[in-house]
Parts: sequence; C-alpha cells; structure tokens
Amino acid sequence: MVPQTIDLLKKQLPVHQESLLLTGHTTTGLVLVDVVNGFCTVGAGNLAPRQPDKQISEMVQESVRLARVFCDKKWPVFAFLDSHHPDIPEDPYPPHCIVGTDESNLVPALQWLENEPNVTLRRKDCIDGFLGSIEKDGSNMFVNWVQSNQIKAILVVGICTDICVLDFVCTTLSARNHRLLAPLEDVIVYSHGCATFDIPVEIAKTAEDVIAHPQELMHHIGLYMSKGRGAKVVSEVSFDTKEP
Ligand SMILES: [Zn+2]
Repeated sequence: MVPQTIDLLKKQLPVHQESLLLTGHTTTGLVLVDVVNGFCTVGAGNLAPRQPDKQISEMVQESVRLARVFCDKKWPVFAFLDSHHPDIPEDPYPPHCIVGTDESNLVPALQWLENEPNVTLRRKDCIDGFLGSIEKDGSNMFVNWVQSNQIKAILVVGICTDICVLDFVCTTLSARNHRLLAPLEDVIVYSHGCATFDIPVEIAKTAEDVIAHPQELMHHIGLYMSKGRGAKVVSEVSFDTKEP
C-alpha cells in the first residue's frame, strides 16, 4: 500500500497516543501476548515471518526491555503462549504453534522468563487469551492473577495488534466493565510493543484464499479498535528511576 494512502487512512482514523511513566504507585502488570517463535522468529512456521521484519523485531525488543524492568522490580508479569493440539485446527489459520514444538515457546530473548518467580505463563489454545485462561473447573487464571496481585492497570504488548492483542483487550475491558476484574481499572496498549504480520495486497492477489493484511495499516487499525473499546494507547513507556 502506498504510504500516502496509509497516511490518509490514519488521518481518518486518528489514534491519540500518550506516554506512560510507571512509578510503582499504581500496581501495574505486564501482559505479553504470544511472543513465541511461531509468530516472531523468521522461518519458524506457517505464521512466522518469512524474512526479517522491522515491526516484529521492535515489538520483541520492547517486550524484552519491559519484561526486564518488571522482573527487576518484582512486578507481576503474565505471558500467553499460543499452543495448539495437533488434531484441533484453529480456523481460519493453518497449523501453527503446536504443543511440544519450538513454535509454541517464548522467543530466545525471553526464554529466561520461565525461571522468574513473578512471571505466570499460560498456554492458550485460542485467539482470545481471556477465554484461553479458563480452567476446567471454570476458574480463570488471568482473573486470579489480577486479583491475587491486586493489579490496577495492565500494560499489554505482543502480537498480533489486530488479532490476539485486540481480542484479549476487548474481552478484558468487557470483563472489567462487568465488575469481574476488580481492582483493575486501566488497560494500556503499548504501540511499539505490538506488531502484526504483513501480507501486501499484491501478494494476496496471487494466491487463492489469501486475505490481504497490510501490516502498517492493520497494526494501526488494531490500536484504533482497542482505543475505541476503552483501552489507553501509549507510544512511550518509561520508568521512574528514583523508585526502588
Ligand atoms: Zn493460535
């Protein structure tokens, strides 16, 4: 898509982005959505980038930066890992992130999270992580995490801005409005900590059943939809270094 067209569309769908300063006064949890090889590591699988991708690399880099600070400060972190049973396909997507393969594991730069005491990992077999947190007994691991840590705000990063991030954000906002997530108040999406995949329209036209998915525009639309549902969108996240 020509850059002028994207600029025109962004003007019609403006997303005002604030900057976020985390001080520790408000209990904030970091939520990582599917920063796994199957979506982020070049050549790792059917839904992984085919070649190095700037937006995805930046998302991984920013996820690592935030995860490091949160872990240093012993703040709560919740990480979703897309993980599917080989016999249960996830329409409309081709097989991806099959349990037991490296596709369903955190990217190499985040594997250390597995040993951090403040990190909760959740393998999910659906797009929406809120639904993917439901246990067999009906309890919800994400809801329990919010409540047991008394989380007032969540900062959401990951992939894809317009799919798994968006669905999780929308359901979480509905659950919050329905008073299922007290004391959660704010759902904050970090734009540079999110990314989506790229299928330019010219490529989509050459194959059957392939839907065009221009990366920059769809990333923007994901942010726009999140904001429209009541999330805050920020383009900068910094920390008050005076805080312990
Ligand atoms: Zn999946």
